[in-house]
Amino acid sequence: MTDLANPTSGESLGVNGSAVGPTGQTRSGMSADALRAAVRDHLVYSIARPAAVLTPEHYYRALSLAVRDRMQKRWMATTQDWLDLSAKVTCYLSAEFLMGPQLGNNLLNLGIEKQAREALSDLGQDLDEVLACEGEPGLGNGGLGRLAACYLDSLATLERPSIGYGIRYEFGIFRQEISDGWQVEKTDNWLVRGNPWEIDKPDASYVVNWGGHTEQYEDVTGRLRVRWVPQRVLQGVSYDTPVQGYGVNTCNTLTLWSARAVESFALEAFNTGDFYKAVDEEVVSETVSKVLYPNDEPEAGKRLRLLQQYFFVTCSLQDILSIHLKRAHLPLHRLPDKWAIQLNDTHPSIAVAELMRLLIDEHHLAWDDAWDLTVRTFGYTNHTLLPEALETWPLRIFGEALPRHLELIYEINDRFLDEVRARFPGDEERVSRMSLIGEDGGKSVRMAHLATVGSHAVNGVAALHSELLKQSVLKDFYEMWPERFGNVTNGVTPRRFLALSNPGLRALIDDTIGPGWLTDLERLHGLESFVDDPAFRLRWREVKRANKSRLAEYVHSITGIELDPTWMFDVQVKRIHEYKRQHLMVLHIIALYQRLKNNPGLTIPPRAFIFGGKAAPGYFMAKRIIKLITAVGDTINADPEVNRCMKLVFLPNFNVKNAHLVYPAANLSEQISTAGKEASGTGNMKFMINGAVTIGTLDGANVEIRQEAGAENFFLFGLTESQVEKVKADGYRPLSHVENDAELAGVLELIANGEFTHGDTEVLRPVVDNLVHHDPFLVLADYRSYVDCQDEVSRAWLDRDAWSRMSIRNTARSGKFSSDRAIREYCDEIWGVRPMSVDLE
Ligand SMILES: *Cc1c(COP(=O)(O)O)cnc(C)c1O
Repeated sequence: MTDLANPTSGESLGVNGSAVGPTGQTRSGMSADALRAAVRDHLVYSIARPAAVLTPEHYYRALSLAVRDRMQKRWMATTQDWLDLSAKVTCYLSAEFLMGPQLGNNLLNLGIEKQAREALSDLGQDLDEVLACEGEPGLGNGGLGRLAACYLDSLATLERPSIGYGIRYEFGIFRQEISDGWQVEKTDNWLVRGNPWEIDKPDASYVVNWGGHTEQYEDVTGRLRVRWVPQRVLQGVSYDTPVQGYGVNTCNTLTLWSARAVESFALEAFNTGDFYKAVDEEVVSETVSKVLYPNDEPEAGKRLRLLQQYFFVTCSLQDILSIHLKRAHLPLHRLPDKWAIQLNDTHPSIAVAELMRLLIDEHHLAWDDAWDLTVRTFGYTNHTLLPEALETWPLRIFGEALPRHLELIYEINDRFLDEVRARFPGDEERVSRMSLIGEDGGKSVRMAHLATVGSHAVNGVAALHSELLKQSVLKDFYEMWPERFGNVTNGVTPRRFLALSNPGLRALIDDTIGPGWLTDLERLHGLESFVDDPAFRLRWREVKRANKSRLAEYVHSITGIELDPTWMFDVQVKRIHEYKRQHLMVLHIIALYQRLKNNPGLTIPPRAFIFGGKAAPGYFMAKRIIKLITAVGDTINADPEVNRCMKLVFLPNFNVKNAHLVYPAANLSEQISTAGKEASGTGNMKFMINGAVTIGTLDGANVEIRQEAGAENFFLFGLTESQVEKVKADGYRPLSHVENDAELAGVLELIANGEFTHGDTEVLRPVVDNLVHHDPFLVLADYRSYVDCQDEVSRAWLDRDAWSRMSIRNTARSGKFSSDRAIREYCDEIWGVRPMSVDLE
């Protein structure tokens, strides 16, 4: 949000409708009439197409621009207010923001859905058809990026001044197609049709250095300083998107950085006649924000990935410092009073060294002062316990790319390890475990350690996860600074994941307990007094049925498979990963298939099994698991002996847009990761809010979901985290489970014998081999417990009223999982950021 650095430039913002007259009404009026006029206006002046050729897509763009206009004065007023009042601001640094479609959400938050529908209808358009034209801004992989987006919604709704900082990837997460049962990746050129929500600020940008070396020099006062002489220079240009709060004037900012060649450098080459070098430089520079890395977990050693991280971090920190120094001429030592910077996982953790560099090299602060400000400003959220997922950078790559930062990290490390030695004298093993520089398998920089040492607060994302953090990957740090460690259980925004995506349930809840619950989700408890009301339960089921029909229609249009909305919808949607155990769900499906084939007279309560999720393109096993799912689906769906009571769908390209259709349609939510592996999960919360009942392990936030819902409204199975550790310590023998379970043996044999692959015994062999010989995620150890639990689910489903009660109680007790609760905790316990109401008058 670079231009904010100069709040006094230009004219007064004229917040209060300085715009009078026809144009002002067109830009700000909230009535259906004003919106209709605004859409007409944009069709002429922004879209520039004659009436005869207008399509719903044109109306989508015109309406989006009209809606953006309506956020504009709220946006300017919000920013102006926190500048004027010198309010403390949260900066949420995240390499991913998985925002989802914006138009519907903005209409909801502005409170003008009805008016927009009416305005479009007057123009001969259907709002739903127009909404469907919006593409997915897929600037994230999954849960982590979606969490960042939910948090922006809550920050604005809770009227907390905030800026989200990230990367404007030209290509987001790939589009997944399924061909012959395999995942095929297609590039996601999301900007090709324009993005009506962003405003670019090409006039303001920051310089980003890269590579080269450092030099010492004496400044005018005779002090020794360090200068970074980069090998390459590029610049970051900001694109700002408004983030409108629900039912409030607050409209915050998401700033995404896009890489450009530095003009002067290119010009220099031009002037000396080296045209090709100039163009080449540009190509290389713009590569930096070209594409999102499609891995759910980081992979080590990609130079461009490090450049992406550094690129958006330095632009963001330079922006923050520049706003800080210009606003009321605040001195640098007030930085932690005015800014709370949160690191969403380690992806932005280079910020610790970069802020030190800016404060020391550019602003000439002394080391101790700079370090004090740095630690007081940063907070770090850890998102994973998987040791292979903890980010490290090989020292050589790091030092070549960021030579000055490596020096600073060595200095931070020396001082830090002195502290460790003072606290734990003689414990050199501890010193090497805690060092910022790892020695195992070639030297590397440990980013989680850097983030922990450089932050005053470190949190996990669910109660269990935060406990395990203190006992495992950050144990030594916890022993050193117990007061730094806390927990903030994740949450999801009920605006998008209930009101927007489940309008039927929203209306029923409004009818039943009145308004107010959407910003105070604990009020859903009010639904509990209606569980014994048969008329209410009937309406509850009708809403779910309508959502299932809506999903069935979509599934049919995409896959050609017909689903019966009276069947149980049993759903697992999330990234494909061995620890999430999609293959465990498949084993249960094959067990049912086997039972039906062996007993032609058998009937089971009919179920539709629905999967969705992307596999990282280089993740061999995850791609085989997709093939397993689709192969089993093809077999089941085509076989009249089984498809009378079971079907299987793999919904391609799971993303936020189609998630809107999926979560509200689920009866059963599959949350079946190996205990101790899923940090929190947020899909589990979206299902619960929408009245699905969970079958799950005691992992991540499932633990708290079960606590809130009540054990009787949750299907629990599987080993606990400590049991998992014990099994592993004792030496896990998967074959023992096969030997003791004839049904399981039969299931694995069906896969191995090619039952689902037209006799091909090779395609799925790696999956079976993995399960039977070297599976760190203990699928077979949990198989029997899971399948028995599923039999219990089937019995429970037969009692319609009992199931409805469970479903209602899940929604009624889901209040804790609102991202509003999570953001309040961050604001109160970590950021010290207070509400600031924005007055438009
Ligand atoms: C919520 C969400 C996720 C995270 O799902 P988990 O079940 O928590 O892994 C991933 N992708 C999308 C599109 C989501 O909306």
